[in-house]
Amino acid sequence: MSISQVPAAKIGVQPALIRGHEDQGLMYFTWADSPVVGAQCANCNAILWVDQRKNVILSENKPDDVPQSGPGYQEYARSKIRRFLAAMPACPYCGHHSFDRFVNNVSFPRFPDGQELGEKISSADVLNADAKNIEVALLE
Ligand SMILES: [Zn+2]
Repeated sequence: MSISQVPAAKIGVQPALIRGHEDQGLMYFTWADSPVVGAQCANCNAILWVDQRKNVILSENKPDDVPQSGPGYQEYARSKIRRFLAAMPACPYCGHHSFDRFVNNVSFPRFPDGQELGEKISSADVLNADAKNIEVALLE
């Protein structure tokens, strides 16, 4: 595995400031069709982005004994995310092994200072930054 810095736009990640929270730094968003999902570090809140189709855990086939839906499937999905986070390498920014947040288009990261994104954010409060000129960490 290697970690490189790539422009956010290249991997379908949109950095944005949130109106009223500009001093908390950039929040990062993805779309349902973005190729990557993220793992956020519990210690420094950095996000490591990963191509989910190339990740052995996220792209694994569902075992036959796991149902297609319902509680059994949900437990399987949760355990897959736990295994994904546990398999992350050391954080490239702080060196800790403590990735705790799965990030995708419906599970948002924390701000760089560790605060949660409030529930009341509307799209008008999302101030997109230039995704071509902001680099993010990609694990390959
Ligand atoms: Zn870290």
